[in-house]
Amino acid sequence: MAELIIIGGGLAGCEAAFQAAERGIDVVLYEMRPKVTSPAHISSRLAELVCSNSLGSRLPDRATGLLFAELSRLNSLLVRIALETCVPSGSSLSVDRDLFSASVEQVILNHPKIRVIRKEIREIPDSPTIIASGPLTSPGLSDALIRFSGKNNLFFYDAVAPIIYKESIDFSVAFYASRFEAEKGHSSDYINCPFTKEEYDCFVDALISAERTPLQNFENEIHTGVNAGKGKFFEGCLPVEVIAARGHQSLCFGPMRPIGLMDSRTGQRPYAVLQLRQDNHSGSLYNMVGFQTNLTIPSQKLVFRMVPGLAGAEFSRFGQMHRNTYISSPSLLQTTSQTKTRSDLFLAGQITGIEGYLGNIASGLLAGINAANFISGRKMLIFPSATMIGALYRYITETPAERFQPIKASFGILPELENRFVIRQERAARHIQTAIRAMDDFLNENMDLIKTK
Ligand SMILES: Cc1cc2nc3c(=O)[nH]c(=O)nc-3n(C[C@H](O)[C@H](O)[C@H](O)COP(=O)(O)OP(=O)(O)OC[C@H]3O[C@@H](n4cnc5c(N)ncnc54)[C@H](O)[C@@H]3O)c2cc1C
Repeated sequence: MAELIIIGGGLAGCEAAFQAAERGIDVVLYEMRPKVTSPAHISSRLAELVCSNSLGSRLPDRATGLLFAELSRLNSLLVRIALETCVPSGSSLSVDRDLFSASVEQVILNHPKIRVIRKEIREIPDSPTIIASGPLTSPGLSDALIRFSGKNNLFFYDAVAPIIYKESIDFSVAFYASRFEAEKGHSSDYINCPFTKEEYDCFVDALISAERTPLQNFENEIHTGVNAGKGKFFEGCLPVEVIAARGHQSLCFGPMRPIGLMDSRTGQRPYAVLQLRQDNHSGSLYNMVGFQTNLTIPSQKLVFRMVPGLAGAEFSRFGQMHRNTYISSPSLLQTTSQTKTRSDLFLAGQITGIEGYLGNIASGLLAGINAANFISGRKMLIFPSATMIGALYRYITETPAERFQPIKASFGILPELENRFVIRQERAARHIQTAIRAMDDFLNENMDLIKTK
């Protein structure tokens, strides 16, 4: 039987290696550290947590809590070790980061089916492979990914706009309309938040003076051009506060231009407009178009709630910026985590556009099981979209490529509940019930695809 190559000994790579090895596959795991370092990792350990030591809330009514429950059912190695190395932190699952990585490393190094080689890989192997090289994939491998995917399908910088729950928008102020809909027969797809001149002036002043998150040193490489000319980069997705600081009217002529938008209730064209675009299938989430930002979270709450219609906005995700190498999964990936053009090539972890430690562990688990199934000639696993893992994969593979952005576990990506009018507090419980039932039924019906040796 062919061996499996895994590139990257981070969260996804280690989980994938363990899952494949437990299914009898010989695994070679390549990790570039300590020979080549990343700008954020500080040790040579496998499965290093680069920033927070929290894997998210363990509460059963939270999205990460649901993912945690699913991963526990699927015998995730990293979740088991997280539980063994956890530190007191209320309802969140936080770990002693050194103990966590040391314990993962010990299991991986001692596994009879896994060989770890400390080496940077710069070419995509032409035998069964999982690429799990993370958000800080080395430049050499990034070049190889560009050759494989085309430069428009690899992104280097992540400046994401906030996402808002539709139910928190005030529709006595906001209105549906698309630009020039009357002339071109477009449907009213966007939600528009209209500004008067006075509201716009106050908003821009607040936006420019709001507190920003300091950029890490390594993020300056985007300015010095390390990745210039490859894929998308900084100038193409300027933070809204940077655009605003270039001139008081620049937003009015940029992402907030009111051209072609008429507020049918007043018959007037607003002075400026913030547009919100649907972000998930069910239409419960909307993203702030062109509002990628580097403001701190408290500043985002303060300033973005000044937008007319958003005074009570609840955020499903805040905007953020950091270096992040990820592929256009809708263009390149299948829900099995195989690439569309090479069935023996899998991608896992943050490079697929899945965010958050637990999400990336889940992604490694799916890729590891499916790579093992592929090598041993078994069917591929596709988790039901009612489960959080299934919903993450559906989101990253089915979102239209032109508006694809990284996503983390959230209830908003799960299919709409049968009774849409159930009150918000109950919704999480219903989602969880549905997801767990779907996962349990799925596991019962697909034991042969899940089982280890
Ligand atoms: C600065 C920063 C802070 C973050 N903070 C958080 C946080 O607080 N919470 C959170 O949930 N998520 C955070 N993330 C996202 C986090 O990186 C992921 O959730 C998680 O680590 C991704 O897992 P992964 O396995 O995809 O990548 P990683 O864990 O980064 O693993 C990838 C591995 O591949 C190796 N590698 C790269 N290129 C090569 C190559 N060519 N050859 C061989 N090996 C290679 C790297 O050294 C690394 O060990 C952060 C990301 C960054 C960049």
